[in-house]
Amino acid sequence: MIPDPHRYDLDALRARLMNERGGEVDDSIPQLADADPELCAVALVLPDGTARVTTDADVAFSIQSAVKPFLFARALLDTEGEALDRVGIEPTGESFDAIKLESGTGRPPNPMVNAGALLAASLVRGSDPAARDARIAEGLAAFAGHDLAVDEDVAHNEHLLGDRNHALAHLMRAEGTMQVSADDAVAVYARACATLVDAETLAVMGATLAYGGVNPHTGVRVVPARVARDVVSVMATCGVYDGSGRWMRAVGVPAKSSVSGAIVLAAPGRLGAAVVSPPLDAQGTSVRGRLASEAISDELHLHSFAAG
Ligand code: GLN
Repeated sequence: MIPDPHRYDLDALRARLMNERGGEVDDSIPQLADADPELCAVALVLPDGTARVTTDADVAFSIQSAVKPFLFARALLDTEGEALDRVGIEPTGESFDAIKLESGTGRPPNPMVNAGALLAASLVRGSDPAARDARIAEGLAAFAGHDLAVDEDVAHNEHLLGDRNHALAHLMRAEGTMQVSADDAVAVYARACATLVDAETLAVMGATLAYGGVNPHTGVRVVPARVARDVVSVMATCGVYDGSGRWMRAVGVPAKSSVSGAIVLAAPGRLGAAVVSPPLDAQGTSVRGRLASEAISDELHLHSFAAG
């Protein structure tokens, strides 16, 4: 029998997670380097809209790469699906910021790595970066069920210090696959990454993807079911970068990791979840986040490929 997630003991899980001391906090920008390694929160959002949360689930952090599924969703909506021709959907087996495009086409390999997220940011409708920022913010708010603030210092530093992102955007310009200016694309992407969420909010966003594009709190259809399905499929194959295969075997739930130590999970029809804990493994995945995801998948029988 499948255990009832309403009764799942999240506090006991969190206590187990706190014994894990491995991993390193990201130091790409000062604000991320200053993250509290003891921050640890888990949140589940169930089909009836119930949110189950631990301590710290209301602590804000920048969403970072966990924004990529939602950015891709926005690009799919704004281009009426054409984004699927402009960005590949194959896993790379390489790190999130690898300077590499698809050979032959010059397209970014997939929307879950930086190249693809930069292109997705450039495809969002809007005549200038401010207009694209506003559309992205509106989309993220619909996934979350409320407006989200942006950490302006994080946005500024990521724009300024994201050398590899500038390199990727210039490479896509040179290949003819990016139409906006490289600097515009980096600015918009950096600002999206600097959006502030907490674990509970991120779990609602994951749940909206898991429930076919309908936000379980507001009841609002945020994206068509087909868009949600496409986004979750790419999370399943590419969401944890060069750790995606290992993730699928061990956790079996589509997810997106990020350098802030957040992971957003979408188990279609079953639940949305988020975990945040800043210390990361070599692939940039939260160490405690992975452990929590494995435990939740195992204990709530969420693995996509388990027969029973
Ligand atoms: N903003 C970060 C970057 O582009 C996000 C990376 C991540 O979370 N993996 O470098």
